[in-house]
Amino acid sequence: MSLLIMGTGYVGITTALALAELGWPVSGFDPDARKLQLLSQGILPIHEPGLDQLLEKHLQRGGVRFLGDPGQAVSAHKIIFLCVGTPPNPDGSANLRYIREAAETIGAHMTDEKLIVVKSTVPVGTDERIVRWIETSQTARIPFDVVVNPEFLREGSALEDALHPDRIVIGSDGNGPAEMLMKLYERLDCPIIVTTPEAAVMIKYASNAFLATKISFINELSRLCGQLGIDISDVARGMGLDPRIGKLFLRAGIGYGGSCFPKDVDALVHTGKMHGVDLTILERAAGVNRSQPLFQLARWEQSLSSYTGKTIAVLGVAFKPDTDDVREAPALTIIAELAARGANVRVHDPLAKLPVELQSGQAVQYPTIEEVLHGADAAILCTEWADYIHADWGRLKAYMKGNFLFDGRNALDGEALSSRGYRYCGVSKH
Ligand code: NAD
Repeated sequence: MSLLIMGTGYVGITTALALAELGWPVSGFDPDARKLQLLSQGILPIHEPGLDQLLEKHLQRGGVRFLGDPGQAVSAHKIIFLCVGTPPNPDGSANLRYIREAAETIGAHMTDEKLIVVKSTVPVGTDERIVRWIETSQTARIPFDVVVNPEFLREGSALEDALHPDRIVIGSDGNGPAEMLMKLYERLDCPIIVTTPEAAVMIKYASNAFLATKISFINELSRLCGQLGIDISDVARGMGLDPRIGKLFLRAGIGYGGSCFPKDVDALVHTGKMHGVDLTILERAAGVNRSQPLFQLARWEQSLSSYTGKTIAVLGVAFKPDTDDVREAPALTIIAELAARGANVRVHDPLAKLPVELQSGQAVQYPTIEEVLHGADAAILCTEWADYIHADWGRLKAYMKGNFLFDGRNALDGEALSSRGYRYCGVSKH
C-alpha cells in the first residue's frame, strides 16, 4: 500500500514518519516548496523531539520522499491522508479552505480508486463535503472512499504519541475502508474504535474541549483561592489523587494556547449554535481562558504598582515546552499587554521566535537567559521549559535589577526561590 500525506506540518510530518517507522512507504506533498526542499534535505521545518533522527533514517532507506508535483503525488498513491490545517474563521467556525483545496487536487488528479483519510480536525459533516468537492473536480467518474481518523498527538511528544497512541478512532460508513486502515495500524498496540464519521470527529472535538474545560476550571478556581489565601497547587493535588478526576491538566496557569484547544473549543461552540444548542460550559471555558493572562497580569501588577516604565523579562513564548509553536500562546497576550502598558519587555525562548508583529522597540527577544534578565524589575515565566525550571536562579539574580519572579505556570519552586532572595508569586501561590 503506498501512502501519500497531504500537508507536511506538525501532524503531517509526524504521521509520515510514524507510518514509515511502521514499515510503509510514504510520500509527502505540500504546496509549500520551501518545506519540501528542507524535508528532502533531511532538515525539519519544525521542532519536534525525535523526528529529525527518523527523517534522516527513512530518507536514507528510501522509505520516505517528498513530492512537489500534485499530479504525480495523487496518481501514484492508493491511500491519501489529509493533514492540512483547519484554522479558525473570525466567527469561530473551522476554515475548510485547505481541506477543500486538497480535495479538489485529489479529484483533479486521481486516475484510479483511492482511500482518503481525514486526519485534520474537521467539523461534523466535512467528510460528505469532501466527497462532493472531489466529485466535482473529477474529469471521469472514479470511485473513492473517505474515512475520518482524527489525530490525538500532542506537540512536544508527537512522535511518542503517534507510535504509542492511547486509542485509534476510525469513522467510516463502510467496513472495507476501516479494515484497510486497521491493517495500516496493525503494529500499534492500543484500542481501536470504529464508529461513524460523525461520532469520530465529535470524539476529537469533545476530547479537546474537555481538557480545555479542565484547565479553565482550575484557572477560575485559582482566582477564588488567590482571594482566600489558599494555595491552588495543594487543592489540585488533593483533587487529582481521586482517580475519577485525575491529576493531569489541573495545574493553574496563564491559560491554554496552541493550534488546537482554542480553535477546537470555538469550532464546537459554533457547531452547537448552527444546530440551536448553546454549549454554555465551553463558552465560559473559552472566556475564562481568554481573560486568564490579563487577570494574572493585573494580580502581579499590584506588587510593582505599575508596569509603566518597568523592565519585564518574559521567559517563554511557545505555548508549551518542547515545541517552537507559538500559535495562540498566552505569552503573546502577556507580551502585547505589557508593551501596551508602557513596559520594556525583554523576551526569551529556547526555541520559539517572537512573532514579527510583536517585535518593536518595546519588545525585544534575547538569545540567553542572562541577557533577558539583564536589568529586569521582574521576570514572568510563561512557558515551563526545563531550561527555566533547572536554571541556577541563585546565580541569575545578579543580572536583575529587581527581585520579582512571577510564575505563570506554577512550575518553579517558590520556597527555594524565596530563600534565594526572590519575591516569588505564582498563580494563587506565594
Ligand atoms: P500545520 O499548519 O502545521 O500544517 C498544515 C500543512 O498543510 C502546511 O504545511 C500547509 O502548507 C499544508 N497545506 C495547506 N494546503 C495544502 C494542500 N492543499 N495540500 C497539501 N498540503 C497543504 O498544521 P498542523 O498543526 O499539522 O495541523 C493539521 C491539522 O491537524 C489541523 O486540522 C489540526 O487541528 C489537527 N491537529 C493538530 C495537532 C497539533 O498538535 N498540531 C494535533 C491534532 C490534530
